[in-house]
Formats: sequence, C-alpha cells, structure tokens
Amino acid sequence: MTVVSSGTRAERIAALAFDYRAQRTARVERCNLCVGSVFIGLTHRDRYGYPASASGCSRCGLVFLDPVMTRESYADFYTRTYRPLVSAFHGRLIDARTIQQEQREYAVEWGNLLALYVGGRGYRTLLDIGGSTGVVADALARRFDLRATVIDPAPLETVEAQALGIETIEGLVEDINLGTRRFDVVVLCQTVDHLLDVAGTLGRVRELLTPGGFLFVDIADFRAAYLRHWSVEDAVKIDHPYYLTEATMAAYLQRAGFEIARADYAADHLHVGYVAHPSTPRADALPSPASVGELWREIRLVQNAPAARH
Ligand SMILES: [Zn+2]
Repeated sequence: MTVVSSGTRAERIAALAFDYRAQRTARVERCNLCVGSVFIGLTHRDRYGYPASASGCSRCGLVFLDPVMTRESYADFYTRTYRPLVSAFHGRLIDARTIQQEQREYAVEWGNLLALYVGGRGYRTLLDIGGSTGVVADALARRFDLRATVIDPAPLETVEAQALGIETIEGLVEDINLGTRRFDVVVLCQTVDHLLDVAGTLGRVRELLTPGGFLFVDIADFRAAYLRHWSVEDAVKIDHPYYLTEATMAAYLQRAGFEIARADYAADHLHVGYVAHPSTPRADALPSPASVGELWREIRLVQNAPAARH
C-alpha cells in the first residue's frame, strides 16, 4: 500500500528514494510527429526536481522528454513509483482505489460530449486504451449500452477493472494481437501524454476502429500547463514523455487518418478533448511555422518574465 510521508513536498519526494539518474534512458533521434531531427533544448529539470530534460522539434513544435526513459524503465516506474510519486507531490494518497471518484466525475464530464456522437448509430463496442481501473469504461458502457474492453499495462489497476466485470487485457496496445476485432468507440483518456510512441499508437487505433466509429482522446495541453503556473519546468514531469499542444495534436490526428469532429476545453482549463472520425491520412500534416515560432517565443517569455519562479 502507498503511504504518504510527512514533510515538505521536496522531503516527501526525497523519501521515495527514486533515483532518476540511475534509470536507463535513450536519446531521441527523430521527432515522433514529423521525423525531424533538429531539436531545441528547453528545460533541464521537471516539476518533481528530477534532472529530466525536455526538447522541442524546431520544425513542428512537438515537445518531449529527451533523453527519455526506456520502455523497461517505464514499466518498472509504473509498477513501483508512479502512484507513490504523484501522492508525494500532492501530499495525499493517490492509488488505484482513491482515483476512482475522480474517474467517475471524468466519465460524466466527457460522457456528456460523447453522447453527441454515440446516439442512434448502433454502436456496440468500446475499447479503453490505458483504461486503468475500468471506472471510465464501465460508466461509458452503461450509459451508452456498449460492451467494454480495457487495455492497461498496470496489473494493480486491471484487477479493479476485472472486479467490475469488464474484459481486461494486460499490456500495451502496440503489442496486443486483437486479430480481426474492431471497436465502434475507442477512448484514450489522460493517456496519450504517457505513451512512448504517439504516432504508432494512433496508427494502431485507426486500424482497430470500425469505419463509422470514432476516437476520443484528450491531452494535457502543454501551453495551458506552463501558463497556469507561469513555469515551463513545473509543466514537465517524468511521467509524460510528450507535451502536446492543440497544434501538434491536430497534426498527429490528421497524419494518423483522423478528421477532428470536435475539440472541447475541459472544465479544469488544462485538458483538451477531441472526438475524431476515421478519414484519409494526411501524411504531411504539420502545425504552421507561424504557430511553432509563437510557441518558442511564448516559452521564452514565460521562462524570462520577472514573475517566473526559479
Ligand atoms: Zn517534429
């Protein structure tokens, strides 16, 4: 069981004795969005105080951890460190049980958006990738009369989903062979920023959707995150390999073969949700050079403004 120690935030995080420097990491060779290789180093510390660096792709504006922990390191991180670390950061217990109330509220909020796209279309199946405890999948399945499947790599979370009677598959969507199965509704809830290969996963999701189905995905908008605390470092955290913006997410979806039906700003003013239908892939989709230039200018403004916290 996770126990939150007392003391300041820095002391609580130190008490976890997670040694980020000892983790295996790999340098990012190519931008996951545009395959460019010219990067701009942006930050050298994350919100927990770990020496994690974030870079941006000069061509498309994608921001990502660079170097980034390997898949094996992340598997270990999610098994042992992630929930205790988030608990230490917030100073309260956050685990597979306590997050369920928050997930129920999440399901209601985004369910109200999805209701606009589900009704009367004869949908029968729902796939929740990174579906954690299954609370969101269960709520959406009940509300829209769908049969739910959850894919998640964390056994402590999928056991909760199994208790709800949901079909669960432990692992990563890129590795799982679902044969010819297709799903009418696929959701990636608070998950895309945690992926190691966003382009690969979105491409896989596109294959798993029925032709008339749709994808729901939400991002923690990087610009909202750094403007909120007026700090780029405080918007970076080792649990997020990627820092998506509206511009980069739109390009990702277009490249993977999705047409955005609707974007929606969440009530928390941080997340942006998208409903997207299968469409013809636009392999050359990119954020405009003007929007990329504006992103770097805004980041420098935040980093150098007198009010910035250092
Ligand atoms: Zn790029």
